Amino acid sequence: MNSTFSLDDAIRKIPDFPKPGILFYDITGILVNPEAFRFCIDRMVEIYKDRKIDAIAAIESRGFIFAAPFAERMGIPLILIRKKGKLPGKTWACKYALEYGTAEIEVHQTDVKSGERILVMDDLIATGGTLNAAKNVLEQGGAEVAGFFGVVGLPFLNYQKVLGDAEVTTLIEYQ
Ligand code: AMP
Repeated sequence: MNSTFSLDDAIRKIPDFPKPGILFYDITGILVNPEAFRFCIDRMVEIYKDRKIDAIAAIESRGFIFAAPFAERMGIPLILIRKKGKLPGKTWACKYALEYGTAEIEVHQTDVKSGERILVMDDLIATGGTLNAAKNVLEQGGAEVAGFFGVVGLPFLNYQKVLGDAEVTTLIEYQ
């Protein structure tokens, strides 16, 4: 990190959102700070530039924001993993439990190529349930997960246990 900003300072912490007991880590402070946003994308490129990654898959919606400039810089396809009912084509789908509530995600079948190694990312990894569901839909299409990435990680929620042996990389972690 450089001297003029701290990634931690760029992330607002909002207690009891969206419900009591949840400390919400708000990445909008990164997006309004070009230096912080550039730092995140630069770090991602630095980490993955020499890895064999065929595509990046990102989780709606905040994952998209970081994945899009990364995909463009890396020259790799960007696969959108969306909430149920948003994708018009034939999909692979998976239901899963969230830190708060349940959800279902989908990916276009035509976007997932069998045998590809895909990096999967979101803005924040909490329980790992969302990324694990993303792994499920990509594997339904015959792809392999090359690793997981989150700008923010909450390791005390034990996401590594849910995500198994896969490599999990984050830029900042909170306990
Ligand atoms: P999980 O599936 O539990 O890893 O949850 C990750 C997803 O929920 C990500 O899309 C996050 O944006 C969102 N999320 C979960 N917990 C938080 C939190 N404490 N602060 C901000 N976002 C969160």
